[in-house]
Amino acid sequence: MPMTSAADGAQWARRRTYAIISHPDAGKTTLTETLLLEAGAIRLAGQVRARGENRRTQSDWMKIERERGISVSASVMTYEYRDLIFNLLDTPGHEDFSEDTYRTLTAADCAIMVLDAAKGVEPRTLKLVEVCRLRDIPIITFINKFDREAMEPFELLDDIQDKLALDVSPMQWPCGSGNRFKGVADFKTHEFVLYKRPDDSEVSRSERVPLDGEAIHQVLSEDELTEVSEGVDMARELLPAFDRKSFEEGHLSPVYFGSALRRFGVHELLDALADHAPGPQPQAAAKGPRDVLEPGDKEVAGFVFKVQANMDPNHRDRVAFVRLSSGQFKRGMKLKTEGGKTLSVHNPILFFASDREIADEAFAGDVMGVPNHGVLRVGDTLSESGKWRVSGIPNFAPEMLRRARLKDPLKAKHLKKALESLAEEGVTQLFRLQVGGEFIIGAVGALQIEVMAQRVADEYGIDVVFEASPYDTARWISGSDADLEAFIDRHKTAVAEDIDGDPVFMAKSAWEVNYSQEKFPNITFSATKERS
Ligand code: GDP
Repeated sequence: MPMTSAADGAQWARRRTYAIISHPDAGKTTLTETLLLEAGAIRLAGQVRARGENRRTQSDWMKIERERGISVSASVMTYEYRDLIFNLLDTPGHEDFSEDTYRTLTAADCAIMVLDAAKGVEPRTLKLVEVCRLRDIPIITFINKFDREAMEPFELLDDIQDKLALDVSPMQWPCGSGNRFKGVADFKTHEFVLYKRPDDSEVSRSERVPLDGEAIHQVLSEDELTEVSEGVDMARELLPAFDRKSFEEGHLSPVYFGSALRRFGVHELLDALADHAPGPQPQAAAKGPRDVLEPGDKEVAGFVFKVQANMDPNHRDRVAFVRLSSGQFKRGMKLKTEGGKTLSVHNPILFFASDREIADEAFAGDVMGVPNHGVLRVGDTLSESGKWRVSGIPNFAPEMLRRARLKDPLKAKHLKKALESLAEEGVTQLFRLQVGGEFIIGAVGALQIEVMAQRVADEYGIDVVFEASPYDTARWISGSDADLEAFIDRHKTAVAEDIDGDPVFMAKSAWEVNYSQEKFPNITFSATKERS
């Protein structure tokens, strides 16, 4: 008998799928680990940390790449808390892999933004929030490192409002920072959460004291109490109260304060997620029987937001990370891509925080790893009918363009295959110049290019150098056939095709893009592209 919709609903409605975004060093890795510890998903500190520290040097990063099993099992971390199932999507820390991060955000229903309390909003934060905006993902803010000297709370909140154009609603108010950090007042319970300063490197213990009672005078001095009460009063007066709708629409962010390293405020954050993070959201479809996939729909459908190739160098296997948008997936199910390829999914992988397991079933909101032999690409939609294509999985214009030069010209054909297959993972982009047919690799940073060269050598046995190219900026171009033709005619040597065959303008500078835009007002120059 088919399951009732209520039972299906109960399962998908328990999912909470989110990602943590931050500028490097704000504390994302530390917070990931402490969240998992607080939720009881891992027992030992150090499991996530080891990864975080390893990635800091390139050689370590390459080593991790080789031991792909580890990084894959950590790409999604699933844990249960308060009867909910959380899927924490890991995003690469290194900024050179930010495109991967951007796309991972398309699979998240919510984000935690971590700020360093001494630094506020940093450049990478800004960019990541812009990406969240593409789908109006709700953002919960965690201001980290209050055990160190911090900016004033109002200064921090202003910074978020000004730089990110995001309304803020503090849910707590901190008292002091660094050596003077005493803890936070909790608006909801009207309690003070006391930070008990640990002896060196210990995890802090916290204790809750009612703000109104006598006991508060024993833990805070009169000055401190005044500081907190004034802060709370001013915050209440000047800043909006938490509003669920406004949060869910991505306009207002509830703000929490703490120290990931000392595990202070992390339990509160775990509860905040359970209280506020929305369940699986409807997924817009570019093509299909309707224009949206609802998580409660019967048909199983999902999309690939990340692919990792060649995890085992002896087999050209790949794991595609599929975020389910609707339906109840059962192991062995046949799913189709919109292009008509059929895949029997016999060994999908689910990722528990400390382990990975073969999944028997999965629901909307879940992420499963689907091993395949290169059939699946980033942006592909899988569904039972094969009729769906989700929208909103963008490619971002790369910020660094390099020309691929072969040491052995006889290997040109092999190189094409290797570059295409690595580009299909979606980490780097591949452009082929219309005139001359040279390959240009687009990446977000130099490390990505180096990793690419290394992988072409290791996995395909081809010696390739990625050297400077005359191009600086790539923009997808679109317009009427006549306009495009006129533009391409005028810029023959600077037009390339991307891996889907779409035209791209390879400009020598951002200035050139602006100049061309003025000359060709009917052409649209785009820094992002959705697969069509
Ligand atoms: P990521 O780059 O955002 O993943 O940041 P990490 O989690 O690797 O943290 C960067 C550095 O900040 C590390 O040295 C951490 O130990 C330190 N750190 C993280 N959270 C805190 C905190 O709450 N307080 C203090 N004092 N240091 C922290």
